[in-house]
Amino acid sequence: MANTPKLSRRSALMGAAALPLAAATATATRAAAPMLGVTQSNFRRVKVGSFEVTTLLAGTRPVENPHKIFGLNVDEETFNSVSADAGLSTAAAQFFFTPTLVNNGSELVLFDTGLSGAATVQAIEAAGYTADQVDKVVITHMHGDHIGGISTDGTPTFANAAYITGATEFDGWSGSGNENFDGKIVPLADQFTMLDDGGSPASGITAMAAFGHTPGHMAYMVEDGGTQLVIGADFANHYVWSLAHPDWEVRFDMDKAAAAATRKTMLDMMATDRTAFIGYHMPWPGIGYVERNGEGGYRYAAHSYQLML
Ligand SMILES: [Zn+2]
Repeated sequence: MANTPKLSRRSALMGAAALPLAAATATATRAAAPMLGVTQSNFRRVKVGSFEVTTLLAGTRPVENPHKIFGLNVDEETFNSVSADAGLSTAAAQFFFTPTLVNNGSELVLFDTGLSGAATVQAIEAAGYTADQVDKVVITHMHGDHIGGISTDGTPTFANAAYITGATEFDGWSGSGNENFDGKIVPLADQFTMLDDGGSPASGITAMAAFGHTPGHMAYMVEDGGTQLVIGADFANHYVWSLAHPDWEVRFDMDKAAAAATRKTMLDMMATDRTAFIGYHMPWPGIGYVERNGEGGYRYAAHSYQLML
């Protein structure tokens, strides 16, 4: 076997020498196909029991100098070495923005709305739905990349939807003078229903307090037929820098100690129960599992086919 490649290569070289013109022409023709750039789909649908759960890619972009965002409490050398071990660039990180649709058989529920209505609706339509079919919009927290798509030019993007969010989250932003909250949420405030830890926005879905990233940040447990999936929103925002090192501070976590404590509690639960989760900023399509890495942290295991069966 060891000799085979060598022999093939020699005969290939001899063949090429014997047919110089034809070979050169053929190669040149093949090289003319244009470079098309990297690409990806903008929706992914899986099953949780009888429920259908669809992640929607509402946006993605590179962000420079990720150490300015992740690992604020560790030095450059530590950040660089953890990143190198994981094969990650320290010059830029690719960000993803991933709302989720859950169809529980009686209602179509959208979790978060992306940066803008247009991109989110485009992904919803690619996935086979229309914006008008959305029965409920659940907002996990009030950051602009989660509420931006709730209205488009001042008009509600999801014309038939009821709105639901955490009471603590809503109260935490009310009267704070935040431009995004005042522009996107306040005009719809009368139509919002508030819930607390353990509340249910729809059948088979339960709110889980996951405070820290924002004052009342909520995750949601989706459960049917003995299968569980956590819509984790922003409890952890990078698959290495937040999972391997839940203590690493993140610029966007408003209460850094509470956010780290929430990360550890949720990661421990999901690793123990082998619960699937969707992370709003995990690598597209945003669905994965949590494993212990043996060093006190966790490892992200991207979903393969578990939720297709
Ligand atoms: Zn976010």
